[in-house]
Amino acid sequence: MEYKSQNVICQNCKNDFTIEPDDFSFYEKIKVPSPTFCPWCRFIRRMSWRNDWHLFKKKDALSGKEIFSFLPEESPVKIYDRDYWWSDKWDPMEYSQNYDFSRPFFEQFKDLFYKVPLPAHSMHSIVNCHYCTNANNIKNCYLVRGATFTEDSAYLIWDHASKQCLDSHMTNKCELSYGNVNTTACYRTLFSVDCESCQEVALCKDCVGCNSCFGSIGLRNKSYCIFNQEYSKEEYKERIAEFNLGSNKNFQELKAKTYKHWLNFPQKYIHGYHNAGVSGDYIFESKNAKNCFRVRGAEDSKFLQNIINGPVKDCYDYANYGENAELVYECLIAGSGVYNTKFCTQSFPNVKDLTYCIFCNDSSDLFGCISLRKKQYCIFNKQYTKEEYEKLVPEIIAQMEKRGEYGEFFPSWLSYFPYKATAAYEFSPLNEEDAKKKGFLWYPTSKQNYQITLKNKNIADDIKDIGKGILSEVIECAHKESCQHECTGAFRIIEMEFDFCKRINISLPRLCTNCRHHERLLLRNSPAFYHRQCMCDKQNHNHQGRCQTEFETSYAPDRPEKIYCESCYNKEVY
Ligand SMILES: [Zn+2]
Ligand SMILES: [Zn+2]
Ligand SMILES: [Zn+2]
Ligand SMILES: [Zn+2]
Ligand SMILES: [Zn+2]
Repeated sequence: MEYKSQNVICQNCKNDFTIEPDDFSFYEKIKVPSPTFCPWCRFIRRMSWRNDWHLFKKKDALSGKEIFSFLPEESPVKIYDRDYWWSDKWDPMEYSQNYDFSRPFFEQFKDLFYKVPLPAHSMHSIVNCHYCTNANNIKNCYLVRGATFTEDSAYLIWDHASKQCLDSHMTNKCELSYGNVNTTACYRTLFSVDCESCQEVALCKDCVGCNSCFGSIGLRNKSYCIFNQEYSKEEYKERIAEFNLGSNKNFQELKAKTYKHWLNFPQKYIHGYHNAGVSGDYIFESKNAKNCFRVRGAEDSKFLQNIINGPVKDCYDYANYGENAELVYECLIAGSGVYNTKFCTQSFPNVKDLTYCIFCNDSSDLFGCISLRKKQYCIFNKQYTKEEYEKLVPEIIAQMEKRGEYGEFFPSWLSYFPYKATAAYEFSPLNEEDAKKKGFLWYPTSKQNYQITLKNKNIADDIKDIGKGILSEVIECAHKESCQHECTGAFRIIEMEFDFCKRINISLPRLCTNCRHHERLLLRNSPAFYHRQCMCDKQNHNHQGRCQTEFETSYAPDRPEKIYCESCYNKEVY
């Protein structure tokens, strides 16, 4: 069928959005009605089901003991310890329900959702880790969240395969590094952003293949540069020694100076490479991937976020974990062999033909099921024959369509997290009143009470004056809970961190881990895209006056950076 692009009003925010001919073809292929929410509202709705990094204590429904969980005690769902949940010692089919055609689907789903235990954490293949969540195949880690194949690391959020790294966000295969955002294959790299294959660099941005550089931006295969000026090896070493990053005062001054220096240089409108026909940001090795954010190996897909393992083909509105995926729509954390799956979350590996399922693994042909594994032909955790299933599911869908329930992700009011603990809050921070007005959940979660033993102002300025005694202190966060960062008010220094900072001579942190993460978020762009024009007005380029090239970029118009198109940027950097 020939489709025309269509302008639609979002049923949530009431703004216009366009459904393109390609989109209609996709919706037809996977047999769903076209969406009633705009792409941003769909993203926020999915993210209202994602707790990226908050940890809580919650009662285990089996033992009654308080255990660490990604779900707060106040959440109405039940949890089991992760190992017990994965075992065969209990049967999720005991909670089965009949489908009642007189009631809305989500009301009935809620009954099941509040009954069937969920695992305390979304993790598998974890060795000797503490306080980690949303991770798989990680080893010897502490407070590492959203990670795969990470080892001997602490305080990472969104990492893949790094070793001995600390306090970083969005890192990939880095080693012995600290305080970075969006770095790949870097070694002994500190406080740097958007760097790749660099060694011994500190406070650098957008550098590739550099060795021994400081405070620089936009360099390719350079050595011994300080604030983009090249020095001899000896001179470089002398100057760097004078900086003494071990002093917090020096570090803060140099950081402020560096961030100012960075603004003098242009930035490319998009992060990524080896792409064809893509739009969005942080896109790698992808083809025909539109409106995507942080993806690798995606093809013929749209509205993907944080799908970095690939390959992913023919997927729409899909976020936060996925590999070997095809025909996935409106899913969050579903992957490792997933096919024709819609409106699901936390379902992996090897899932096929699932619809409206949560925490179902190694299964196919399930509708509205929770915590099942190795099952087929179930509805609300009840077993049917193939014939019964194939007759009943279309009848349920038809009834849901009549009520306007079918074809959208789980509603936010059903989420197992309060809004403030979700990634939606990170991308769209709202206060209690506005969040409730928009239909999000808002309830307080119990906080830990820390007895501060070391005031922030009493931490010695230079790490050389700080001994191991600090490991037993409860240190006051410099923000003192007065910020919007979910500040915990206090933090500890762990031995791994102390040894690392001493060895490399960098100052110890002054903020709690939540505040540190929020500071790093300022160095990363968000998945909201703006139509803008290249800001280059260089005389020696092939344009008269300002460059006329336009693009979609995640740099909002009010951002201070100079944003260039690819051609103008390449002329300046290479
Ligand atoms: Zn909207
Ligand atoms: Zn704090
Ligand atoms: Zn703060
Ligand atoms: Zn340009
Ligand atoms: Zn130009």
